[in-house]
Amino acid sequence: MLETAIALIKDTGKKLGLADKQIDELIATDAEHDFEIKLKSGKQLQAYRVQHSNKLGPYKGGIRFHPNVNIDEVQALATLMSFKTAVAGLPMGGGKGGVVVNPKELTEAELEELSRKYVRGLHQHIGPDKDVPAPDVNTNAKIIDWMVDEFEQLSGDKSKASFTGKSIAKGGSLGRDAATGRGGVIVLRELLNMLSINNPVTYALQGWGNVGSFFALVSEAEHENWKLVAATDSSGGVYSRDAYSAKDLNEYKKTGNKLADYKSGQKISNEGLIGLDVDILVLAALEDAVTDKNVGQIKAKIVLELANGPVTYDAYKRLGADGKIVVPDILANAGGVIVSYLEWLQNKNEEHWPEDRVNRELENHLVKATDQVYELSKKDSMTLTEAAFAVAIKRLT
Ligand code: NAD
Repeated sequence: MLETAIALIKDTGKKLGLADKQIDELIATDAEHDFEIKLKSGKQLQAYRVQHSNKLGPYKGGIRFHPNVNIDEVQALATLMSFKTAVAGLPMGGGKGGVVVNPKELTEAELEELSRKYVRGLHQHIGPDKDVPAPDVNTNAKIIDWMVDEFEQLSGDKSKASFTGKSIAKGGSLGRDAATGRGGVIVLRELLNMLSINNPVTYALQGWGNVGSFFALVSEAEHENWKLVAATDSSGGVYSRDAYSAKDLNEYKKTGNKLADYKSGQKISNEGLIGLDVDILVLAALEDAVTDKNVGQIKAKIVLELANGPVTYDAYKRLGADGKIVVPDILANAGGVIVSYLEWLQNKNEEHWPEDRVNRELENHLVKATDQVYELSKKDSMTLTEAAFAVAIKRLT
C-alpha cells in the first residue's frame, strides 16, 4: 500500500510540474514514534504513531490494533490521511497509529491496560491542537473513551477534543457510525449525476462491515434504482440478479451469520465477486483486494474504493487503460474523517449537534470535494485519482 500511495503522489506531482524535491517533501513524514508497551501479564507489544503532515491543521487519523500492523503500513495510512483531509478541505493534517496485537487474544482488562498505556507512551505528542487520533480496525468507542480518560488525567485537558470516535455519552458525534458509508453514497451519486447515468445500476459489494453495511443501507434508503446484486464478507457471499434487500442482509449479519450461508442466490467467493457482470464494484473490505493478478476479471465500469488502498498501483493503471473509472479512496471514504472533524469541532465549541445537521454538513463537504475533483479531471484530462491527489497536493504545497 505504501508503494501505491507513493507512486500516485509521484505521478500526480510530476503532472503538476513539481520538482523532485517538492515531491519528496510531500512524501516525507514529520515524525514517527515507536515504543514498546509492557502489560502486567508480561506481554510486550510494539506500538506506533506516524505523524505525516500538519500543514493544514492537527494530525488526524485512526489507531489500529492488528497482528499485521507494521511501520510501512502505518506510514502509508498516515500519508493517505493527509491527502484525504486535504481533498475534503478540512483544517486537519494526517497521521495514523497502530499496535501489533490480536485484540481477540487479550482479556478486557488487558485491552484497557493497552489502550491507556498507548496514551501514556504518546501523550506529549498528541492533543486537541496537535494530533487527534480516532478508531480504526479493531478499535472502537469503548477503547477511545479509555484513551480520552487517560489523556485527561495526564494533561488536564477536559475538552474531549483529544480523540474522535468517542461514545455519544462521552462527547462523540451523532452520525459518525454511518458517515463513511453515507459519504460513499454521496460521492457516487454526484459522480453518476455528472456522468449523466440516470438509469438503474447494479452493484456488487465486497466487505459487509461498518463501511459496507452503511453504504448498502443508505443506498437502499435513498436510491431505489441502485440494485445490490452481490455481497461478501470474509466467508464469501451470495449473488442474485433479483437484487437483495440491504436491510434483510444486515439483520441476518447482525445475528452473527456468514453471508456465504445466506438463504437465497448463488454462492460466490470473494474472487468471484470481483469478476461479476455489474455496473459498479464497491470495495469495502481490505487493502490490495484488486491486484495485477485479478484486475483482468473486472467487468464493472466503475470501481468505488471504500476501503483504504483496495486497488494496487499496477491494477489501477490497468483499469485506466481498460477505460474503467476508479473512484479513489481519499475521496470515496472521506466521510468518516469529515464527521470526525465535525465531532472535534463540536467538542471545541462545547456543542452537540442533531444528526440531521451532521449529515447536512457531511453532504456539503463531500459535494464540494467531489465537484472539485471531477471538474479538475475534466479540465486537465486526469483520472479521478490523479485529480483527487492534485487537489490535495495544491493545498499541501
Ligand atoms: P470492518 O472490520 O467493520 O469490516 C470489514 C469487513 O470486511 C468485514 O465484514 C469482514 O468480514 C470483511 N472482509 C475481511 N476480509 C475480507 C475478504 N477477503 N473479502 C471480503 N470481505 C472481507 O471494517 P470497516 O470499518 O468497515 O473498514 C473497512 C475498510 O474501510 C478498511 O480498509 C478501513 O481502513 C476502511 N475505512 C474505514 C473507515 C471507517 O469509518 N470505519 C473510514 C475510512 C476507511
